Amino acid sequence: MNVVVLRETQPGEARTALMPESVKKLIDLKCAVQVEHDAGLPAARTDDDYRQAGAEVSSDREALLAAADLLAVVNRPTAEDFARLKNGAVVVGFLRPLDEPTALLPAVDRGITTFSVELIPRITRAQAMDALSSMATVAGYKAVLIGAAHIPRMFPLLMTAAGTVPPARVLVLGAGVAGLQAIATARRLGAVVEGYDVRAAAGEQMKSLGATFLEVDLGGIKTEDAGGYAVELSDEAMNRGRALIAEHAKTVDVLITTAQVPGRRAPLLVTEEAVNGMKRGSIVVDLAGSTGGNCALSQPDVAVERNGVTIVAPTNLAATVPVHASQLYSRNVTAFLSLLVKNGELQIDMNDDVVGPSCVTHQGQVVNQRVAALLSKS
Ligand code: NAD
Repeated sequence: MNVVVLRETQPGEARTALMPESVKKLIDLKCAVQVEHDAGLPAARTDDDYRQAGAEVSSDREALLAAADLLAVVNRPTAEDFARLKNGAVVVGFLRPLDEPTALLPAVDRGITTFSVELIPRITRAQAMDALSSMATVAGYKAVLIGAAHIPRMFPLLMTAAGTVPPARVLVLGAGVAGLQAIATARRLGAVVEGYDVRAAAGEQMKSLGATFLEVDLGGIKTEDAGGYAVELSDEAMNRGRALIAEHAKTVDVLITTAQVPGRRAPLLVTEEAVNGMKRGSIVVDLAGSTGGNCALSQPDVAVERNGVTIVAPTNLAATVPVHASQLYSRNVTAFLSLLVKNGELQIDMNDDVVGPSCVTHQGQVVNQRVAALLSKS
């Protein structure tokens, strides 16, 4: 079975789907691995690194696509690339099936089987495949560095002969994987950190990392579903959260927002009024920009300035740390592929509790119910 990795073509993308260390693992699974020339270069891996790991390197992208039994990608292939794959080929990657379902129709037409890493269930057995968590970890870390590099002051408390330098103040909204990593990183740099989330369990996790948990009285309403994700809140509950955030935003140097509700627009937590109340030189780093943003002034991938406050909403922060982001992603993908490959042959078991739920298209059909429902509405 032929596993293929191409150079990622999306602007700003520097990750690669398989690092050389993972190539070795696939060869152990009796796969052949073919890599497009310079596919790993943005992640500091050369063609020679891949060759030494046992892969074949080629510059003929079209031939690689035509020969692929399985294409491992970071970002969804273009319609043209889907058309070049053979019928029955498998694609694994971030395919955005719930955000852009129609973009997978070319895969249906070609009879391609697609697995979307976003749909891999967050069950214990699939933890090593959890690419969302891997990328959120990188993004949470990098968000703090962006904040630290931007503000006109230092992060740690310093006692010097010239007097005391007070620590920076950081507020983190949303304590999922990205938010908790942001808290841990900001604490390591010496900031005083506050955090806010609607889930009570998140409060305990924030406190254990050394942040102060901002609690708001939501009247005992349900804020979490059975899977541990936040649910959409009423306007009244949202307004209480916004008022608390606006109050605390006045004193912070860096405000990092990571709040998401699966399948919905990101909750609006930082109003224009809250930004107007922030200090000059402070920054909002909004990690929810790709789902609408947590800040009213956020624009995806554009820096906005308001009364000396900067608002940024980078949509692909993981790509700005390409070595570690690729390493983690590559391990996630390889762990997932080990479920699809038996003795060097593709064996897709739709009854498997990780394989079945993460499949979007198979044998000319959209097999994921949520994606099918979205497509029937479009
Ligand atoms: P996410 O990206 O869906 O959301 C980020 C955070 O935003 C969440 O903590 C959520 O509670 C919070 N949020 C949503 N609406 C909010 C609002 N109005 N105000 C404030 N905060 C709001 O989160 P995630 O990183 O995907 O993690 C979600 C859950 O999944 C967590 O419980 C996490 O521990 C869990 N998880 C489990 C596994 C696993 O078991 N393998 C892996 C990763 C995450």
